[in-house]
Amino acid sequence: MIFGTKKGTPIIFPGTGTGGWESALTNTLSPGDKVLTFRYGQFSHLWVDMMQRMGLDVEVIECEWGEGADEERLAAALKKDTHKKIKAVCVVHNETTTGVTSDIAGVRAAMEGASHPALLLVDGVSSIGALDFQFDKWGVDVAVTGSQKALSLPTGLTVLAVSDKALASRAAAGSKRCYYDWADQLATNPAGSVPYTPSIPLLYGMQASLDLLKAEGMANVVARHARLAEGTRRAAAAWGLDLLCKHPRWRSDSLTVINAPAGIDSNLIVQEAYRRYNLSIGVGLSKVNGKVFRIGHLGNCDEVMQASALAGTEMALLSVGAKITPGAGVGAAIKYWAETSKVIPTR
Ligand code: PLP
Repeated sequence: MIFGTKKGTPIIFPGTGTGGWESALTNTLSPGDKVLTFRYGQFSHLWVDMMQRMGLDVEVIECEWGEGADEERLAAALKKDTHKKIKAVCVVHNETTTGVTSDIAGVRAAMEGASHPALLLVDGVSSIGALDFQFDKWGVDVAVTGSQKALSLPTGLTVLAVSDKALASRAAAGSKRCYYDWADQLATNPAGSVPYTPSIPLLYGMQASLDLLKAEGMANVVARHARLAEGTRRAAAAWGLDLLCKHPRWRSDSLTVINAPAGIDSNLIVQEAYRRYNLSIGVGLSKVNGKVFRIGHLGNCDEVMQASALAGTEMALLSVGAKITPGAGVGAAIKYWAETSKVIPTR
C-alpha cells in the first residue's frame, strides 16, 4: 500500500534506514560495480559514503543543497555510458536535510530515454507512507524506508520493496552480506517466519500504523501531507523567510526547511523552541548548520498539531529577536487550512 506496488516483494529487517541502504546495495551489486547517484544533502552524502566504503565505483552528480535530481544531468551521464557499465542509479527521493523531493518518475523517464538497463534504487526513508510513491509505475527496483518517519513508530525497522529484476540480480551480486542478506528472509517469510528474533512490538506497531493509513486511504494521506506542507510554507512566507529548496517543483510535503532570518543563528531558534516551549524542531545538518531550521509534518500529524508547532516556532522566532508580526505565520497557515481541510474520512 505505502510503496504503491502489487508486484514488489516486501522485506522487513530489524534495523534502521541506513541498514536498508546497505541491504539494497549488497544484494544487488559487487565491489567495483559502477553506480550513478546525486549528492544534494547530508543523507545522499552518507549514502555515497557507504557506496564508496563498499568498494563501488561511484559517479556522483554534485548538486547545490536545495536542489533535487536533475533529470537532464542524469540523462547526460547515462548517455555517456555507452558500454552500459552503470549497474545502478541511486536516488534519495526526499532529502530530509534540505526539504527537497525529487521526481522519481522523471528519473525513470531519463533512464528510459537513454535506454539504460541499470537498476533504480530509491531511498524513500522520509517519503514512503507520506508522499505519493509508485514503485510499480515508476519502475523502482529497490525502495527503502524506516519505521520512524511516515509510519510514526519508534526507530528500529527498515522496510524494503524489491522488484523481480533486483531479486534476480542477487545471484551475481558479489558484495559481502550477512545480516542484511535477502536470502534468509526469502527462505523464511513465505511460511510466516523470520530468520532471527523479530521486534514484535514494532511489528504490532506497524500493523496499527498501516491500519490507520488504510482507513484514511493513501490518496487522503498524501493530500493531508500536501495541505500541512502548504500551510507551513505559507507561515514561512508570512514570516518573510525563504525555503532552502531551490525550485517549487522540488518542495517537500513531508518537511519544510526554512532559512533563518539574516543575522540569526538557526540553532538558537531550535534551542529556544525546545527550552522555552518544549517543541522539537530540526537543526540544520552539516553544511547548513546554523543557517536553516526544519519543521517536520509527516506521519501522524494533522492541522491542529501543525498549528501548535507553527505557534511554538513563531514564539521561538520572536524570542530570538526576529522581526515578525506575532501571529502572522500561524494566521496564514490556519486561514489556508480553514479553507482547505477535509472531513476526516473515518468520521
Ligand atoms: N535517508 C533519509 C532520507 C533519512 O532522512 C535518514 C534519516 O533520517 C536516513 C536515510 C538514515 O536513516 P536511519 O537514521 O534510520 O538509519
